[in-house]
Amino acid sequence: MTMRVLSVTSEAVPLVKTGGLADVAGALPGALAPHGVEMTTLLPGYPHVLASLGRTQVRHTWEFLLGTPARLLAGKLGGHPLLVLDAPGLYAREGKPYNDPAWRDWADNWQRFAALGRAAADLAGGAMVRRGKVERFDLVHAHDWQGAMACAYMRWKPYGSGAYVPSVATIHNIAFQGWFGAEVFPRLELPDSTWSLDGIEYHGGVSLLKAGLASADAVTTVSPTYAREILGPEFGMGLDGLIRARGPAVCGILNGIDGDVWNPQVDPALAQRYSVRTLSRRVANKRALEQEFGLDPGEGDRAGGPLFIVISRLTSQKGMDVLLEGIDHLVGLGGRLAVLGSGDPGFEQGLQAAVDRHPGKVALRIGYDEDLSHRMQGGADAILLPSRFEPCGLTQLYALAYGCVPVVARTGGLADTVIDANPAALAAGVATGIQHDGVNYYALTAAITRTMELYDNPAQWNLLQRNGMKADFSWSASGKAYADLYRRLTGA
Ligand code: ADP
Repeated sequence: MTMRVLSVTSEAVPLVKTGGLADVAGALPGALAPHGVEMTTLLPGYPHVLASLGRTQVRHTWEFLLGTPARLLAGKLGGHPLLVLDAPGLYAREGKPYNDPAWRDWADNWQRFAALGRAAADLAGGAMVRRGKVERFDLVHAHDWQGAMACAYMRWKPYGSGAYVPSVATIHNIAFQGWFGAEVFPRLELPDSTWSLDGIEYHGGVSLLKAGLASADAVTTVSPTYAREILGPEFGMGLDGLIRARGPAVCGILNGIDGDVWNPQVDPALAQRYSVRTLSRRVANKRALEQEFGLDPGEGDRAGGPLFIVISRLTSQKGMDVLLEGIDHLVGLGGRLAVLGSGDPGFEQGLQAAVDRHPGKVALRIGYDEDLSHRMQGGADAILLPSRFEPCGLTQLYALAYGCVPVVARTGGLADTVIDANPAALAAGVATGIQHDGVNYYALTAAITRTMELYDNPAQWNLLQRNGMKADFSWSASGKAYADLYRRLTGA
């Protein structure tokens, strides 16, 4: 029997994206459909999400949803059912999903995302009536702190008096915890008893993520290694005690990639499409990339030294401070670097200074550019990911699929998805990239040196590329893992 699941998320491709969560939320409905799960996605009604709906229907109206009028509109997300929470008081504004145009967090983020959770809990409990029939969901899957309150309301203040509906909370990044002051607690409309150590209270304020992790029936995160890492204080970021207390309710399910969007054989963004069998065609993309970034051109396939890229939020989580320290080493060894990203102004300035020091060898695009990210993956030799922590990481998965060799810190999903080119893996012919232990100048520059040595051996390098391209990071295994989890929780 088809299972109906409501996915509660603050972003989903192709409608709204600030990071990997959007890729995952956008791909999940398609990944689950073959496993008998119909997933409906619930998104906030940001202006461009509403604009994308065209002719739509109102599915439900709230006179007051946590104090603000709201209604529910129907749409489609990549052919799958979509519900959009149209609450102009919360979402009808210019800016980013979480920040104003000056990058300050919206002051009412607690209300913007608690309302999303309250709406989801109402829908799970049967608030939506269509043609005289109550529409129900068998399970709710909430993402990150922005979706987490769905689980909290479902457990602590459910809608109606129907059967209990189970929930899953997925942590895409435990660093973002939805912290707000104690003054918002009364406005969340939760029972007083939830102001407690095993409720929503967190160091004298509230944490929306904590509420979700404490109340969900299962907690997942996006790689097995990250699921282990967050059991400890270094990666658990203050929530490790709660994660340990949830014990067997916690597991890691690796993200997949959307093969319709990230496939070098059909990618419309590429100057030259290619496959594992036609890898030599890739050089046309490298030439185009050099030109686009104004980098000194190479001549043959390998002339000009390896072209490294970074596609990233420019933050310390992503190790951008250490990248800055390593650039002179990379250029000194004959490499070139193209960076696409935005974030911390200090890192943007540091990168610009590196461009000024190394004209023709280092180039920078500040901003967010989806098409350019495809062209970079399809033309560069290697991608650097010196992340301090990485719950799953999608960028290295795209790189593997595109024959762009990932050079990664051994953490989280990076550890789980890249096979280091150590002597044993090279001898067995299974390596797909380079890993380094720790995120510091010495670890990164040693990894860059090792990458250069591998690049100097064309047969070896070619094998790394081909192994990566043949690795299967499609959603098929992970879609099944989520469907199995849902069935376990619902007893279906
Ligand atoms: P995170 O969600 O922590 O930022 P992930 O690796 O899980 O990291 O996902 C990042 C996603 O955002 C990838 O799809 C990556 O290609 C994309 N991305 C990051 N920065 C940029 C940028 N400046 N331009 C285009 N895409 C970007």
